Amino acid sequence: MMKPMRVDDILNNNVWDVDYEPHIRVDSSKCRECDEKPCLLLCPAQCYTLAGEEVLFSYEGCVECGTCRLVCPNDAVTWNYPVSGRGIHFRFS
Ligand code: SF4
Ligand code: SF4
Repeated sequence: MMKPMRVDDILNNNVWDVDYEPHIRVDSSKCRECDEKPCLLLCPAQCYTLAGEEVLFSYEGCVECGTCRLVCPNDAVTWNYPVSGRGIHFRFS
C-alpha cells in the first residue's frame, strides 16, 4: 500500500521555469478591505502570506490552479497563465 504524501512533498516534485513578469497581480488596496482573506487559507502553494496586516503575494511557486481568482471576494486578482512554456512543469510521482 502506498504511503500517503503531504501536499508539500507532492508540490516539491514539480519544477518551475519562472517568468520574469508576474502572471498574477494583486491589488493590495483591496486586500486591506478584505475581512476573511480566503486566499491565505486556500492557495495550495501558499503564495499569499500575511505580514502584520498586509497581504503579500509571490507568484514564483504558483501551481496555476486559479483558486485565488475564484475565491477572492473583492475582484483583487488579475490572473493570466504565464507566457508559453513558463511556469510550473508538473512531475507527478
Ligand atoms: S481574498 Fe482577494 S482581496 Fe482578500 S486578501 Fe486575498 S487577494 Fe486580497
Ligand atoms: S493560482 Fe492557485 S497556486 Fe497560484 S496563487 Fe492562485 S491559488 Fe495559489
